[in-house]
Amino acid sequence: MPVIKMADTELSGKRVLIREDLNVPVADGVVTSDARIQAALPTIRAAMHENAAVMVMSHLGRPTEGEPEEKFSLQPVADHLSEALGTEVPLIRDWIDGVEVQPGDVVLLENVRFLPGEKACDESLARKMAALCDVFVMDAFGTAHRAQASTYGVAEFAPLACAGPLLAAELEALGKALTDPARPFVAIVGGSKVSTKLHVLDALAGMVDTLIVGGGIANTFIAAAGHNVGKSLHEADMLDTASKLAAGGEGRADIPVPTDVVVASEFSADAPPTTKSISEVGDDELILDIGPRTADQLGQILSGAGTIIWNGPVGVFEFDAFGDGTRTLAEAIAASDAFSVAGGGDTLAAINKYDIASGISYISTGGGAFLEFVEGKKLPAVEMLERRAGEAR
Ligand code: ADP
Ligand code: MG
Repeated sequence: MPVIKMADTELSGKRVLIREDLNVPVADGVVTSDARIQAALPTIRAAMHENAAVMVMSHLGRPTEGEPEEKFSLQPVADHLSEALGTEVPLIRDWIDGVEVQPGDVVLLENVRFLPGEKACDESLARKMAALCDVFVMDAFGTAHRAQASTYGVAEFAPLACAGPLLAAELEALGKALTDPARPFVAIVGGSKVSTKLHVLDALAGMVDTLIVGGGIANTFIAAAGHNVGKSLHEADMLDTASKLAAGGEGRADIPVPTDVVVASEFSADAPPTTKSISEVGDDELILDIGPRTADQLGQILSGAGTIIWNGPVGVFEFDAFGDGTRTLAEAIAASDAFSVAGGGDTLAAINKYDIASGISYISTGGGAFLEFVEGKKLPAVEMLERRAGEAR
């Protein structure tokens, strides 16, 4: 079902409340990575340009509700926003009962998670948020999988609720990759655990032509194929699950198991790396990356893909000696003509480390929300926007 878009909404002179995801890393009162702020800027600028009275809200970290702590204050974000927008963005600490803001101006509302009832989506809190505005704009894809007061409840009660440009672009890019994808459709699911990504593995295995597994997830598949994985991160209680996925079948993806790996005798940045065939891993060794032969083979599969979805590094890329597999695949994605979508906190870190962002068609701002969308789940905040759009018609 369609949603109303901010771009199609009259904003001039209106009080516009925008939910962004400005949950950025902060150290000593300074924002250390402003990617999420940068992503939100076009939305905020567009609303100011339309002469709306703009209120921006976000969460930061995981404070205890009702116990505001300075280390979770959005003040550093307000400072950073002021600089980026070239205009003073005041932080309003006490805002839930009313906010003063003039058309053309923008204010930042203090951390929504300081308010009791945010997480539980308390109705009276959501109604108070809704009462602040004429138009509510949901623009925080990264929180769209959570039904909370500032993402879901407020959208139910606001006079008008619409999707911001960032959220709309995200839904469109993910929708394009998942509905009628250009084939071959290849997915990479790496990272640490099968258990946390089981649903996404299962969903993708039913959609894609080739499902590339990496990291601790691959180790579990390697063990399930009967190989010794030594002390590698893997899940012994997931072997049956991995075997079933690997068995494939009609309409199910091919899941190639690595043929060579890079091992070390301890989990450390300066442990000497050794490349081995998959059948030669010793009891005292840890698999920390896919091997060069495997990386080249997988890189070729990616080169020929029509659509690529990437979540999760295929090795411990934080240690340079074990990052070659992730770098090779990242570069293959960037070089391919496929429509490519990537998401996940550590995946984004790898994209930055190997400097290939410009080669990816769309980089999702959501980790958990990205995975749930790929699983085919309805994101609650998006569902609410669809419902409101249906009522408005
Ligand atoms: P994302 O945040 O992109 O969803 P995950 O959080 O699932 O990704 O996984 C990333 C983590 O997995 C990284 O910190 C990486 O070091 C780790 N990892 C990857 N391969 C291995 C491995 N072979 N052994 C242990 N940890 C691994
Ligand atoms: Mg992670």
